[in-house]
Amino acid sequence: MSDEKTLVGAVKTEQGVELKGIVMQPIIDKCEGCDRVRSFEEEKFCSSYPVPARKWADGRCNFATHIKVESGKAAKVNPLKASKRAAKGR
Ligand code: SF4
Repeated sequence: MSDEKTLVGAVKTEQGVELKGIVMQPIIDKCEGCDRVRSFEEEKFCSSYPVPARKWADGRCNFATHIKVESGKAAKVNPLKASKRAAKGR
């Protein structure tokens, strides 16, 4: 038995696989390993977003569970707060 999660509530229509009336696009390579990937009829879809490729179009998917936020932009340290923390010994 596979422990792959399936896309609950999805149906196959002429347009493709639909979930709640929205046509779903399959995941892309970068989605592999993400916890939100769901399988349906031999294909894999995202449980959170119907068009995964667009989610990755401008960088990293913000829903991805398998990618750590790279240090840099997102985790920028405020030098003033950091020095206060250091002064308090934390
Ligand atoms: S959450 Fe993002 S990375 Fe994960 S499957 Fe969906 S589109 Fe892909």
